Amino acid sequence: MKMAIFNTKSYERDFFERHNQSGQHELEFLEPHLDSQTALLAAGYPAVCAFVNDDLSAPVLRQLADNGTRLIALRSAGFNHVDLPEAQRLGLTVVRVPAYSPHAVAEHTVALILSLNRKIHRAYNRVREGNFTLHGLMGFDLHGLTAGIVGTGRIGLVLAQILVGFGMRVIAHDPMEGDSCKALGVQYTDLDDLFEQADVISLHCPLTPDTHHLINDASIAKMKPGVMLINTSRGAIVDSRAVLDGLKSGKIGHLGLDVYEEEADLFFEDLSDQVIQDDVFMRLLTFPNVLITAHQAFFTEDALNNIVAITLDNVRTFEISGRCDNEISPDLLA
Ligand code: NAD
Repeated sequence: MKMAIFNTKSYERDFFERHNQSGQHELEFLEPHLDSQTALLAAGYPAVCAFVNDDLSAPVLRQLADNGTRLIALRSAGFNHVDLPEAQRLGLTVVRVPAYSPHAVAEHTVALILSLNRKIHRAYNRVREGNFTLHGLMGFDLHGLTAGIVGTGRIGLVLAQILVGFGMRVIAHDPMEGDSCKALGVQYTDLDDLFEQADVISLHCPLTPDTHHLINDASIAKMKPGVMLINTSRGAIVDSRAVLDGLKSGKIGHLGLDVYEEEADLFFEDLSDQVIQDDVFMRLLTFPNVLITAHQAFFTEDALNNIVAITLDNVRTFEISGRCDNEISPDLLA
């Protein structure tokens, strides 16, 4: 199938070319993000492939549909950036990669937790400068502390397995409680209780109208003083300004982010010679107890292999049958 792949980076191109060696699909690699300015580039392509920071709002979807696109193949699990009801109205099928490596994201989450706790980001710089003092590097044992996981789907479950292995007590909140988590000894509870009890809180629920700014002034007020908060899910689950206040007051002791609510203007680009205009983001970077990665939790070789293989398989299945098991139904957002 002819597919325009927006927002392509060179590392992804290699994977696509390797998985399309038979030449089954005609792939056009486009560097720009997909938005209302660039949607025209997809004219004549029945399939469009998009990433998490592409714009799939109603106006962009209308342009794509008007120009002959029938399939939107997301090379991501999250789909909060797609106007699904509009896609349905336009007769556009939207498919995604529901699972490619929950281990990649869960392990990155643990990397953030351990780095913040043991101050690895600070120690790395210090040792390179010949400063071998330990002042300010004291951490704490995770063993025996309570971790609170919000969302125990694929990624939350793997994280629970790892943290139970550390000897942490794991509590969780999810409207769909999971038997695998319960078998690990994870105790489900309501959100308020999780906020009150957890020493480390990690977010693994999708971004929906219900979870938008789930972490806000009121929820932070309920948390333990010095709590560690980790978000590798979607930026807008956290109200960044509220978190900034929480850090300034000391209520939040550590913050690890792989996602940021305004990341579309920042992440995946080299802005090192530009003045970044986002004051909240820049203020966050000044805290010694904040560690931010630029949406790289998914970024392992195993995950990229799976993402590309499943994306191309989704396209092939749609081409043959007009349907696909990985199609996103608008009901999922309801
Ligand atoms: P999943 O669908 O397997 O699990 C999500 C879980 O969240 C489900 O169990 C669901 O019941 C639960 N949930 C829904 N609403 C909730 C709420 N209000 N409160 C608590 N739990 C709720 O998804 P997954 O594969 O585990 O991925 C989780 C999220 O991680 C995705 O939505 C995506 O946004 C994010 N993600 C980030 C990266 C990255 O690179 N940083 C990569 C992949 C996925």
